[in-house]
Amino acid sequence: MLGTGILKGMVETAKNFAGSYHDPERLTTVEYPEQRIASKENARQFPFLVHDTEDPMKGLRCVACQICEKECPPQCIYIVKSKDKRADYKGQMQFYPATFDIDLSVCMSCQICVEVCPFESIKMDTEFELSNTDRFGGLLVNKHQLAKSNEHYRKIHPTEAAASDAVLAAETAKAQAKAKADAEAKAAKAAAAAGPVGAVASAPAPKPSSPAAATAAAPAA
Ligand code: SF4
Ligand code: SF4
Repeated sequence: MLGTGILKGMVETAKNFAGSYHDPERLTTVEYPEQRIASKENARQFPFLVHDTEDPMKGLRCVACQICEKECPPQCIYIVKSKDKRADYKGQMQFYPATFDIDLSVCMSCQICVEVCPFESIKMDTEFELSNTDRFGGLLVNKHQLAKSNEHYRKIHPTEAAASDAVLAAETAKAQAKAKADAEAKAAKAAAAAGPVGAVASAPAPKPSSPAAATAAAPAA
């Protein structure tokens, strides 16, 4: 019947209105900002950059590959790649973002930057209290403002962060296994190259047991 849906909705609203006087479960709002509802795990607002060490700048995972900058639909990411390399949080020499800015007034929270990043470096934050009186510069955030720890990521998106940690752990294990295999192959190659020469050079010359044997062992003229 026409209008049944509207009637059902009104009945539900009336139930919640009346019920909210005696059942807190029926309260659909809270008195913000004194009261706050915890963010849902899948909530997302704007991106942040993950770091893994005490020093946020030295621990940034970002290697300034600029893939996210190219893929961002509204082009609100601005990166300048460093000229030099420095040890990253794993001790590997890497480029790093000399500049990494995001204009949050343009960002549409699409998460594409997160999807395309090959280094688990950029994730979506749940922070939403970002209002600012500076319309043009207030929401242009730099790498210092964007850097947040992996602990923060684990806290706001525990399931996603666990998967991300697993990916990085698998990559680290793979890199270590490859380095070990390469080192073993290199050592084996060096031993094979040096082995026979070393053996001949270091082997003592056989002593002739008799003048006849010495004559036999002597090279022919
Ligand atoms: S969430 Fe989307 S719009 Fe925002 S910075 Fe990432 S790719 Fe760009
Ligand atoms: S956040 Fe990821 S995709 Fe963007 S520049 Fe850094 S490493 Fe590359």
